[in-house]
Amino acid sequence: MRLSVTELCNLRCRYCMPEEGICKKDHAQMLTEDEMITAVEAAASLGIRKLRITGGEPLVKKNIVSICRRAAAVEGIQEVCLTTNGILLPRMAKDLREAGVKRLNLSLDTLDPAKYAYITRIGTLEDFWTGFHAALDAGFEKVKINAVLIGGFNDDEILSLAELTRQYPVDMRFIEMMPMYDSGDFREASFVPYTRVLEALPHAQAVPADGGVAKLYRLPGAMGNIGLISPLNAHFCGTCNRIRLTADGKIKPCLHSADEYSLKGLDFDGMKAELEKAIWNKPQWHGDLDAVNRSKAGRNMNQIGG
Ligand code: SAM
Ligand code: SF4
Repeated sequence: MRLSVTELCNLRCRYCMPEEGICKKDHAQMLTEDEMITAVEAAASLGIRKLRITGGEPLVKKNIVSICRRAAAVEGIQEVCLTTNGILLPRMAKDLREAGVKRLNLSLDTLDPAKYAYITRIGTLEDFWTGFHAALDAGFEKVKINAVLIGGFNDDEILSLAELTRQYPVDMRFIEMMPMYDSGDFREASFVPYTRVLEALPHAQAVPADGGVAKLYRLPGAMGNIGLISPLNAHFCGTCNRIRLTADGKIKPCLHSADEYSLKGLDFDGMKAELEKAIWNKPQWHGDLDAVNRSKAGRNMNQIGG
């Protein structure tokens, strides 16, 4: 299960959220920390073993360390991982590791400072690297870097991003950009198929999948894998076992469906019943997704939890 702890973010990536940020929702609409933990307990009682904490930017949430610690202690939960833009890691990485977060995914779409400032609208690449080194120093079991493939923006950097797996003990994953509700003014040519990555990396060797949704490859002499995640050009709906819980308490059984099941205000039994309903009604696939057929989620990515 992916648990989004906030819709808010300290960056404004163009494919993810609008420039002006978002209209802050009434506090009373959002899940409390206790409700999040009850939801994790209900999910664990149904067999969910792995939790990924995301957002928005999870590290802007004041009580994030406590949420991670309590979620990691829930009986049945074997692994708590977290996805972050990395900016706040210098002051939080050690606390998150001590709280029981095992793995981190960091988002990085470019190695060029000017392009980083452009795509995030307000971020600086230097802050990313400081956060990245804090993550490596804190001793997480695994650090992965996620880049969203964007034609005309970073498709000329595939090799240099992939080279990070030879410079650091990290996996590098390339994700096809998904056309969300309001995810910027990206045209057809911006949607780069995952096969373009393989064309740019002729020396990459296929390696066996690790149970995740990424197709895995490795460069000679690398310390980590290259992962390709292709929701558009080779969708993996048939094997998708993810459910998402939004910060305002909606279970989304599919990232791109408008179906939502509300857990807000429910007790353990009520949440368990809604979770079961959502899981049984998981859509078979997300339908066509491209520059014309946009996601039917009705939310931007920061309001779902990517
Ligand atoms: N703020 C954190 C971060 O950026 O890592 C966590 C939340 S962010 C929504 C999670 C991931 O979703 C990021 O790796 C981001 O690049 C990805 N993402 C956001 N919008 C996307 C889109 N339209 N298509 C594909 N990936 C997207
Ligand atoms: Fe924020 Fe992550 Fe969305 Fe970028 S991708 S705007 S860092 S939530």
